[in-house]
Amino acid sequence: SSRIGVLALQGAFREHRRILESLGAAVTEVRLPADLAELDGLVLPGGESTTMARLLTVYALWQPIRAFHAAGGAIWGTCAGAILLAREVRGAPPQFGGKQESLGLLDAVVQRNAFGRQINSFAAALPVAGLDAAFPAVFIRAPAFTAPGPQVNTLATWEGQAVMLSQGHVLATAFHPELSSDPRVHALFLKMAVETKSEIA
Ligand code: GLN
Repeated sequence: SSRIGVLALQGAFREHRRILESLGAAVTEVRLPADLAELDGLVLPGGESTTMARLLTVYALWQPIRAFHAAGGAIWGTCAGAILLAREVRGAPPQFGGKQESLGLLDAVVQRNAFGRQINSFAAALPVAGLDAAFPAVFIRAPAFTAPGPQVNTLATWEGQAVMLSQGHVLATAFHPELSSDPRVHALFLKMAVETKSEIA
């Protein structure tokens, strides 16, 4: 079975863990660089991306996560986690100078809170490339992506904005598949993690 880590500093990591385990993955909660050893894939959950970025600094995880990706590990970010993946973050709080560090593993600009405030959270039947029927997508203060580079595939858009992208063994969803009782996006990520592993084996 695949060995998947879920970054467990903050946010919706338990929900990811539950779905991944229901699909047969062996799940590790990642809090320290050493927790990344031996994993096939890593999930960066939803939550609050400014907080998560600060905790990545406190736990010295930025560089180990970049190294994990460089060594062929698959990485999936949902919502706040997807914000962490982008090459540039727009809409960070003014008290941080509007700037926010990111991993730069997804060649796209991310705009935080692109669909409005918490009360504008919504669910939508979202057509997704590679899935045969629409996915019940939950958007909670979701970001959206612009200016994707040539290696980026846009897998889903909502109201004309890109909300699901992939680039090699990186996957980003602006919505929260861990909050739907539909495991298809998790299954897609497990497939990505296994394929990447067999390519580098
Ligand atoms: N709006 C949050 C942020 O920018 C993300 C929200 C979420 O993960 N549901 O960090």
